[in-house]
Parts: sequence; structure tokens; C-alpha cells
Amino acid sequence: MSEKVRVRFAPSPTGYLHVGGARSVLFNWLFARHHGGKFILRIEDTDTARSTREFEEMQKQDIKWLGLNWDEGPDVGGDYGPYRQSERRSIYKEYSDKLIAGGQAYYCFCTDAELEAKKQAAMKAGRPPQYDGKCRHLPPAETALKLKAGERGAVRFWIKNLKKYTLDDLIRGQVEFQEGMVGDFVILRSDGMPVYNFCCVIDDHLMKITHVLRAEEHLSNTVRQLMLYEAYGWNIPRFGHMSVVLGPDKQKLSKRHGATSVNDYRLNGYLKEAINNYISLLGWSSPDSREILHIDEMAKLFTTDRINVAPAVFDGVKLKWMNSVYLRNLDHQDLWTLLLPFLRADGPDFDNVSVQWINNAVGALKTSFETLVEAIPLFKTLSDSNFSVEPEGVEVLAWPTSKSVVGAWFSTLNGKSEEFISDVSFNEIQKQIQTSCGVKGKEFFQALRVAIVGKPHGTELKQLVPLLSRASLMNRAQKTLEQCP
Ligand code: GLU
Repeated sequence: MSEKVRVRFAPSPTGYLHVGGARSVLFNWLFARHHGGKFILRIEDTDTARSTREFEEMQKQDIKWLGLNWDEGPDVGGDYGPYRQSERRSIYKEYSDKLIAGGQAYYCFCTDAELEAKKQAAMKAGRPPQYDGKCRHLPPAETALKLKAGERGAVRFWIKNLKKYTLDDLIRGQVEFQEGMVGDFVILRSDGMPVYNFCCVIDDHLMKITHVLRAEEHLSNTVRQLMLYEAYGWNIPRFGHMSVVLGPDKQKLSKRHGATSVNDYRLNGYLKEAINNYISLLGWSSPDSREILHIDEMAKLFTTDRINVAPAVFDGVKLKWMNSVYLRNLDHQDLWTLLLPFLRADGPDFDNVSVQWINNAVGALKTSFETLVEAIPLFKTLSDSNFSVEPEGVEVLAWPTSKSVVGAWFSTLNGKSEEFISDVSFNEIQKQIQTSCGVKGKEFFQALRVAIVGKPHGTELKQLVPLLSRASLMNRAQKTLEQCP
């Protein structure tokens, strides 16, 4: 590609960054990296009723968390700013004036009520509800007078070229827009705010955007954008419209399907590497069909001819599985660093544990959770401050044999000197107690389990015991004995 690739993600900050938005960020970012180009973030906040700075900040935070940093945009600047549309109003005015001066746009003073009545009448008569062009021929002097008198008019694009438009879409091939699909459309509202289709074209042109990878739902907007490019005589960027992301029921992915925002996944203990990897497969595939790919490999392999035109189906189970793959591949200390904020937020502090203990604990438990949040209850059982005999445990302690099992366990621990009980030693202890107490099977195992974790089920004891100090095990056994009838 000879031209310098410049792509953008242009969110309207009216909500969180969702899976579909994250895919647009990722695909544009990968495309830029693949071609050594630039990835630009542009905030499309002209819908003042719905856009907020909070949502802008949250979306930026999510994009940064995914590691998909932008080369130009708010906060980092660049040569083509400002990158927030609300700060570019004078630019839109200038370009709308150019169209008016060239007879390609005009002020329209029709009221909302008037427009609505015309729309209803057109629909009743079986005509498309398009603007009838009433204000097209207002004499310039009259328009000037109205504006001077404080009357507010919208600016409409004047569709002079009635013809079919064809788009050579990078993903969908030739897309045709039949003649007469749209009528003269508003480019600046009467409050001076520009409309998406207008500012998108002005900005994509002025920001020298070469490729636009965006959601399929914008395809119907594209015909208006093509008309504007034509009116200005500008080159058209290459468009690629990505298919919708569906939920498992083949309906458009939405909140009904559960967590769909990047923020939800972050809070639920997903790794950004897993999210990026999974999202990359929503409509794209690597040439050798490998699924687990590092982001650098994705960037190396990312080409638009491998973007599928069929809708992608979001599968939360697969994403979770992929998360577990990434979790298990992490070095134990790195995984611990990621776990700590989750564990601390939920109580246990784990401030005084050794590197050795971390290695043992993470090594023993890491195959038992697929997200960081799922790890919390497992690690909680290792914290003494969380130990208590739960109601199901109390039931087990009421069995006639339980007290002798717990008592024997306590005295055996008391007779040892090592700081930790190894799994081998734990095996021997269990055999000894079974013999000395004459208790076996369920009566034995459930009583012992209650003395260690406070309830008769949970993680394998032979994994847990070596992670709890002897002092901790004794403390737990003591508390359990106090609850035996
Ligand atoms: N602001 C639009 C959106 O959030 C961007 C569309 C585009 O990429 O052109 O959907």
C-alpha cells in the first residue's frame, strides 16, 4: 500500500464500550499496525443530549486497558485536531457555507410540524417520506433577511445528481445504492449542530483517513457520505462494513445476552489478552486457522480479505475458555499480581505470604478457575479470617463420630513440628486417624473437611492442606472442636 494508512475509531460517547465497538477498535488498530500506519481516536459527541464526558472517559479507559492506544486523538493530540467534534463546530460551519455558496446546500426554514405533516401526507400517498425541496429556491436575499431577523434554519444538502451510487466495499464487494433512496438531507441542524453524516465526511477528509472499518449498520449512511464526497470533489476512503455481532440465539448481541461491555468483562476478571484474542475472531480468522494468537501475531496476519461477510456469533463460553488458557499460561507471580486486587476487594489481604507460598498456591489452584473472579472463593478458603463453620458443617459435626475425628486431627497436628504439612504427610496422617478412631468413608472425610474449610465440600484437601500453615490448621481444628456437641 503506497499511501500512508490512517484509520480511526469514532465512538459516540453515549454508553460503555461494547463488544461491537471493541471489535471496531481492534480491527482498525490491527489494520494500522499491519501497515505501519496511524490509528486515530475521534469523539463524535455532537448529539449533546446523549453524549457525556463520563462515557467518553470510560470508553477511553477501556480502550487503554485493552492496550489499543491511539496515535492521535483526545489527550495525545496530533496534527489534525481537535479530535472531539463538539470542538470543531467552526470547521463544519465553514464547510457547510462552502456548499451553500456552490449551490449544493441551502437553508431550510420548515418547522418540525410542517415537516411531520408532509411526511404523513407522503406516506399516505404511497410516496417515500422525503423532503419535498420547498426551501431549495428561496432567494438568497430572503434567506439572509430571515437569518438576520433571528430565524433559525437548518442547512440541507441539495441532491442534484439523481443517480445510482456504487461502493466497492473491502468486505462486502460491490454495494449498490439505487437512485432516489434519500432526499435532501440535513447537514447542520437549526441549532448549528452538525449531523453525523456530514461531520464524519468533513473529519475523515481533513484527518486524511484512508480506510474506514466500521459496523454494517452504517452502510445505509454511506450513500449520503458518498454524495458529500462527490460534492466536494474529494477522494473517498476505502470502506469496509463489518457484519453484526449476534448472540447465541442469532439475535443482535445486546444486554439481554448478559455481559457485553468491556468494562463488565474487566470487572469479572477477564484478561485483556483473552478479550482481544476472542474479539479478533468475531469475523476474522488467521490464514492457518490458529485461534490462540498474540496481538503482535494478529497484527502481522491481519488483512481485510480475511474478514467474513457472514455475521459473527458471540460465544461467552468460548471467551471464558480462552480466558482460562491465558490465565494458565501466566507465570505464577504475574497471575498473583493480577489476582491480588480481586482478592483484596473481597476481604482477604494476603499481605504476609512468601514467594514460595504464592507459587504453591497459584500452582495448585490455577486450573480450578477460568476468571479472576472465580478464583476469589478458592483463595478465600486459604485466609484464616474467613474461616468459620458453616451451617452444613455444623450438621456434620452433629454426627456421633465427628468429634473424635476432629480431636485426633488436632492432636496429631499438635504433635508435629514442621511449619507446613506436605501432601505425603497429610496422607499418612489421614490413615493414622482412620485407624485410631475406627472411622472411615463419608463420616471421616466430611468431618475432616469441616475442620479444614468449615464445610463438607470444596477444593481437594490434598491441594489445600499444604498451603495452610500447621498453626492455621490447628486454629481451624480448635474452632471446629468448640462447635462439636
Ligand atoms: N459515531 C459513529 C458510531 O459511534 C461512528 C460511525 C463511523 O465509524 O463512521 O457509530
